[in-house]
Amino acid sequence: MSTDPSGTPTSPIIPTQLGLDDKFQFRCHKGITCFNKCCENIDITLTPYDIARLKNRFGISSREFIDRFTVDFAMDGHGMPGLKLRTREGSTACVNLTPEGCGVYSDRPAACRYYALGMVSMRKKDSPVDEDSYFVVKEAHCLGHFEPQVQTIRDYRREQGVDLYDEINREWRRIILKKRSSGPTVGRPSERSFELFFLASYDVDGFREFVRSPGFDEVFDLDPAFKEELMHDEVKLLKFGFRLLRQVLFGEKTIALKPDAVEKRIERYRRRNAQAPADKAQALADAQDRLYESLDD
Ligand code: SF4
Ligand code: SF4
Repeated sequence: MSTDPSGTPTSPIIPTQLGLDDKFQFRCHKGITCFNKCCENIDITLTPYDIARLKNRFGISSREFIDRFTVDFAMDGHGMPGLKLRTREGSTACVNLTPEGCGVYSDRPAACRYYALGMVSMRKKDSPVDEDSYFVVKEAHCLGHFEPQVQTIRDYRREQGVDLYDEINREWRRIILKKRSSGPTVGRPSERSFELFFLASYDVDGFREFVRSPGFDEVFDLDPAFKEELMHDEVKLLKFGFRLLRQVLFGEKTIALKPDAVEKRIERYRRRNAQAPADKAQALADAQDRLYESLDD
């Protein structure tokens, strides 16, 4: 199975748009002859919530998960950073595949839950909401399409646990689509903006430290109780990160800045820039400074 950066399967697609109450014929189960075939040749783009679920399942940090289980790629011509699920050494099979099936089934990524469906989100001109439509992906190796089970898209989504993933990742997908559709009009974001995109999208543990740091406080005007919630609620932290990215990438005023904060930081950055970073704390401070640079663009 394969997905593009917006989560849309790139495999053979039946070009009929379906709504939530439309029905399709499909069933996947352990006894089927093609069991595991779809996971033997994967190309799966990971979303922020996929990574949060999987790294928590393995009991490792997001950074360690990224290093061990993902491969990076550019999501667009500007080099917007994306991550794909790693395959086994010398093979196209998923690292999580076992002879009994998916080794991370209850925490499998959104793309795995969607299969054999795909989703496209579109916003009509002057509409405040996205409209989703669905399509069936029919690959030759997948025999699930011949099983005598018919269900609505709504029921299939519920059964696969897709709703929660979509609710959490929706804003992130919008950011990618907006970046892609605005193309040359917004130009290439700075390296610093991309670093922040990576941190907020994929390295949620690193992003938590970034938000916790005194430098972040110096700039962003966050209610202390809300900030405390962010420290203990990973989903809220992810969603906050997506808000911050709209500010960093598109200049939307999504998070209040403290008065004079940007000017002060830029001045400090100018002074500090003459010296080489001495330690990790310094590197973190530099990362924050780079954020200001991007906000100042
Ligand atoms: S995570 Fe599980 S379902 Fe998804 S490709 Fe890997 S083995 Fe298959
Ligand atoms: S029916 Fe399709 S999705 Fe299910 S195991 Fe077979 S190839 Fe994979």
